[in-house]
Amino acid sequence: MPKNIAEKSVEFAVPLKGIPETAVIQSNLPVYNAEQRDEKIANIKRLLKRENAVLVAHYYTNEDLQIIAEETGGVVSDSLEMARFGNNHPATTLIVAGVRFMGETAKILSPEKRVLMPTLEATCSLDLGCPAKEFSEFCDQYPNHEVVVYANTSAEVKARADWVVTSSIALKVVAHLMDQGKKILWAPDKHLGHYIQKVTGAEMVLWQGACIVHEEFKARGLGELIEKHPDAGILVHPESPAAVIDIADVVGSTTTLIKAAKELPHKEFIVATDNRIFYKMKQEAPGKIFIEAPTAGEGATCKSCAHCPWMAMNGLHNLEAVLESGLKSGENEIFVDEEIRQKAFRSTSRMLEFVAH
Ligand code: SF4
Repeated sequence: MPKNIAEKSVEFAVPLKGIPETAVIQSNLPVYNAEQRDEKIANIKRLLKRENAVLVAHYYTNEDLQIIAEETGGVVSDSLEMARFGNNHPATTLIVAGVRFMGETAKILSPEKRVLMPTLEATCSLDLGCPAKEFSEFCDQYPNHEVVVYANTSAEVKARADWVVTSSIALKVVAHLMDQGKKILWAPDKHLGHYIQKVTGAEMVLWQGACIVHEEFKARGLGELIEKHPDAGILVHPESPAAVIDIADVVGSTTTLIKAAKELPHKEFIVATDNRIFYKMKQEAPGKIFIEAPTAGEGATCKSCAHCPWMAMNGLHNLEAVLESGLKSGENEIFVDEEIRQKAFRSTSRMLEFVAH
């Protein structure tokens, strides 16, 4: 552990229960033949237009949703760009395909817009593992620290924070605060926090949350895979364990990894992040080969197996349903308490202003 990280932050780990397995989620999704799929996609495109709605999709959602977003003037991106795009787009309704904190972030930034999601059950282990009450008590113990939280948190946690950041800009924001002599309280992802601390040398206390998907990547299995593919570039998301990060050629946000896949000279890459990102990587770097980093190895089995169970809940069926009936019934609409929203707006809009300058 780097010397500046407070040991006592360990006691704030919150145990997670009832985490769904990706294979189980996927086995319960409706299956369509090619004709039915095409019909659903055509209907969704028609409904988006009719409802003056735009689809904002994350890189980890399934390929069909990414295709629809691209072909209808929406966006496929990381959570920073999703927030920025939704905020700037003139559509009156945002359909956010991803996980709940992404819908909440859109509502925090654009309260005048309707924000709906294909499912409200899609959450995130980082959000679940950082309840607002416990987090607020943790913050109270460090009154002289600047509270910096990852976007993968609830509106209530964002409301308690000084800054909200995504993995795209976390390093820059922490370095900026460090230059001002600030100490940092970081939450919730411990691996990303360790990585930032290691790179910047900032004085930080860490909340001990983790992404269940990235935490499954195994350094030992990765080493064995590299032996079979010695010329492959290694691309790793910083929510992965430190031992996996240490092996990487490039560590960064989803957008950084896609850019690296395009720009690096390697013909093949081993990728440690959600495998639905391969759709965009193949599009940006045609002809290159992308290999999933190992999530299981000796004595270990994977539960998410490189695809987030909550991201997997988004499909054509519930995207179509939210456009057909959710807009009328209000089902699956995101609401954020106005007092919390205003506080969360302060810390979240700071991120967009920081990026703009
Ligand atoms: S991949 Fe990890 S960080 Fe992203 S939504 Fe799923 S659990 Fe959360």
